[in-house]
Amino acid sequence: MSRKTIILPKGRRARGGSPWIFSNEIRMDEAAKAIAPGAVVNVRGEDGRAFGTGYFNPKSLIAVRLLAEECDVTIDAAFFAERITRAVALRTAFYDKPFYRLFHAEGDGVPGLVIDRFGDTLSVQIGTAGMEKQQTAILMALDQVLKPKTVLLRADAPNRTLEGLDSYVKLAKGEGHRIAVEENGVRYIADLQEGQKTGWYYDQRDNRAFIAALAKGKSVLDAYSYTGGFGIAAARAGAKEVVCLDSSAPALALAEESARANGVSIQAVKADVFEELARLKAANEKFDIVVADPPPFVKSKKDLEPGAKAYRKLARMAADVTAPGGFLLIASCSHNIPAERFAAECAQGLLRTERRAALIRQAGAGADHPVHPLLPESAYLKALVYALD
Ligand code: SAH
Repeated sequence: MSRKTIILPKGRRARGGSPWIFSNEIRMDEAAKAIAPGAVVNVRGEDGRAFGTGYFNPKSLIAVRLLAEECDVTIDAAFFAERITRAVALRTAFYDKPFYRLFHAEGDGVPGLVIDRFGDTLSVQIGTAGMEKQQTAILMALDQVLKPKTVLLRADAPNRTLEGLDSYVKLAKGEGHRIAVEENGVRYIADLQEGQKTGWYYDQRDNRAFIAALAKGKSVLDAYSYTGGFGIAAARAGAKEVVCLDSSAPALALAEESARANGVSIQAVKADVFEELARLKAANEKFDIVVADPPPFVKSKKDLEPGAKAYRKLARMAADVTAPGGFLLIASCSHNIPAERFAAECAQGLLRTERRAALIRQAGAGADHPVHPLLPESAYLKALVYALD
């Protein structure tokens, strides 16, 4: 089967090194439209200049995602094995246990592929038609490089509909889906099949450690706790009281189970965070440390204004329940709000509380979430920590 070629009449962005080429940047003629979604293609300028090997989807706004900078690169198990080997080498440079985001899409050179590693269990997220087509090659490569016992395919991210893909979750290998995660010396229980995304949020690892280091003897509110990533770390570090607040009963049940496994206790509260913050304020209840790590408020570019307002409101309401001399962490995992805008909204929210605030930490995800330098969207996580008077 001969490989098709996508022509770039302008190709400015690709020339600038971005791994994404948008549908309005390519020559979308009948020949291009006839290419099957997910097919591997060569990308060339009108003058024949090579822009690389990528995969194409005529249904997606991001028409081509580049996999290599040369044309005619063979995309097979050996290709993925090389990329995965490089990704593992990067992680082993700074983690001594095999618990990390093993592969972070564009940041590791393969758009659409995310893999979290939990010892000998892997949770694989396939986000695009191009990666769906390469599933067998990816699984072969993983076997070759890591020999995992269990591989779970999480092909259920909402963005798959933009790629014309269906949604499923299945075991490709092995059995079982409840695992123990080891992070910062804390053991958590995660459900890779029923849980959100890959089942665990490794991106907050460094921020959890930062909060835990402040937590001894303190009261902690972990709002949007999910399975207790921040709260249990704080409890293990000697917090005197930890409340995990989330709207998901299964997530809170896992948080309680993990707390027991660590010999600590937490209070799990199932409620809407905005409602509970209002109730706590009315009751004049305050916490020494407040963490607010919500789901993305800006899901797409068109949600920017209402989402930005929601972050501002969250900062104000979370500060209202932070004790004098306390700390507030507020995070955003929205790709679609720039870091400066998020920080500006938080600042405005804090201003309304008339508390003096000092920004003491500005962080993103850990080093196992490498960012493609020409794709700022891949630096999605922003976490700000304030000390409040
Ligand atoms: N802080 C967590 C990750 C949070 S993910 C960690 O460290 O692992 C976002 C969480 O917000 C999810 O668990 C989701 O169930 C919860 N959530 C979403 N909307 C909510 C709402 N309105 N009120 C309370 N929790 C909510």
